Amino acid sequence: MSQSEVYDAVIVGGGASGYFSAISLCELSSENPKVLILEATKQSLQKVKVSGGGRCNITHHCYEPKNLVQNYPRGTKELIGPLHHWGPKEMLKWFQEKGLNHHIEKDGRIFPTTNKSSSVIRCFTDLVSRYKIEVKHQTLVSKVVYNHKMYSIEDAKGNRYQTKSVLLATGGVKTGHIIAKVLGHEVTSLYPSIFTFKSNVQAIKDLSGLSMPLVHLKMEIGKKKFSASGPLLFTHWGISGPAVLRISAFAAKELAQTKYKSLLEIDFLMNHSKSEITDLLLSSKELSPRKSLVSTPKLGIPKRLWAFLLSDFDDLPSCWDKASHAFIERLTKHIKEFSFEVQGRGVFKEEFVTCGGVQLKEVNFKSMESKLSKGLFFAGEVLNIDGVTGGFNFQNAWTTARIAAKGMSDHIDSFA
Ligand SMILES: Cc1cc2nc3c(=O)[nH]c(=O)nc-3n(C[C@H](O)[C@H](O)[C@H](O)COP(=O)(O)OP(=O)(O)OC[C@H]3O[C@@H](n4cnc5c(N)ncnc54)[C@H](O)[C@@H]3O)c2cc1C
Repeated sequence: MSQSEVYDAVIVGGGASGYFSAISLCELSSENPKVLILEATKQSLQKVKVSGGGRCNITHHCYEPKNLVQNYPRGTKELIGPLHHWGPKEMLKWFQEKGLNHHIEKDGRIFPTTNKSSSVIRCFTDLVSRYKIEVKHQTLVSKVVYNHKMYSIEDAKGNRYQTKSVLLATGGVKTGHIIAKVLGHEVTSLYPSIFTFKSNVQAIKDLSGLSMPLVHLKMEIGKKKFSASGPLLFTHWGISGPAVLRISAFAAKELAQTKYKSLLEIDFLMNHSKSEITDLLLSSKELSPRKSLVSTPKLGIPKRLWAFLLSDFDDLPSCWDKASHAFIERLTKHIKEFSFEVQGRGVFKEEFVTCGGVQLKEVNFKSMESKLSKGLFFAGEVLNIDGVTGGFNFQNAWTTARIAAKGMSDHIDSFA
């Protein structure tokens, strides 16, 4: 066992929130703090590297905290204050000051101008070197003990580190949660979030590649109701796209409890009311009375989807002229309330996060300090906070890390 060294702050976890908090602590402190990052794996910032398909979706173009928090199924209320203090605008300005410029995509996602996550990694690692922040890789922290206003940290190899403050920035993996539990914190159950939906229906899989620009999804699990709007994409295993990823995040816990079996209602034409659709379809009777229904898709519905929707009717009329008012009303209902059977959870390789983590009521969101253990701080996904896809998860990491850095700096000062 090596002799223990004394640090001002030890950051457990060399991910997005760990690196940003270590750098922020050095920026915000009047004295040069002695900071150590302990990272379990061989390389830091591995998620940043693969994020956004290698492009790193750093944040989202939504600068009003009240609107921004609507993208966090967990953490909605708690993040409002912190986002006022350090939101996307502050983060983008910070990146710009370090020479990392960005661009905003049509859907609001923000990426580095280079479109390379390596630019973000370089920005962080350069600053870590400049501030002489020590980083130890392949160092899995297994124990954190509080004693006489100091923390003693032990890694899996038996090395010890003494510190005035400790930040748990361990992400969604259990190792950090175990440490938090030992220090008295409650950790909620953990479930995967942000995923696609599987279908066993071959006719749905045959629609693979087809997309709808704007649908509305509804799901009811037990007494809970969920909804989401946005583009939808048919895939060779079921459905995906922003609307699906969003509803999957909001219903992550309930879907896990049903083993990912549920009914999903799809409104393929959310901008048209039922009566509008019925009227438009009825007018087709006059416009093209002799034409077959299948060969004349209506309402801008793509041909393949239109044929698929009609294939569900056993009594499909041969032409528009023969379509009764009652049939058209049933067809309208099918378009507006299509019932999709979710038969499993699919992957979304661009992003996935953990739903669940350290109980938020046990954390002071003005400093990210534990309410149970002085000098213990939290940032990022280790908390019971997660966002939908689009840059919101990194924003949570940046916001909580910056506030934790200020909290740690004040805590370190209190020792003087
Ligand atoms: C494939 C993928 C793509 C993504 N793309 C995006 C995106 O484009 N935009 C976005 O906003 N979000 C994205 N996310 C989500 C985002 O990456 C995470 O929300 C974010 O990285 C969380 O940061 P963090 O610092 O809390 O945790 P992490 O980045 O997970 O870092 C935690 C670190 O702690 C280490 N660690 C854990 N336990 C210990 C221990 N006991 N001792 C020492 N070290 C430990 C881990 O090895 C890890 O390096 C993506 C996620 C994935 C998986």
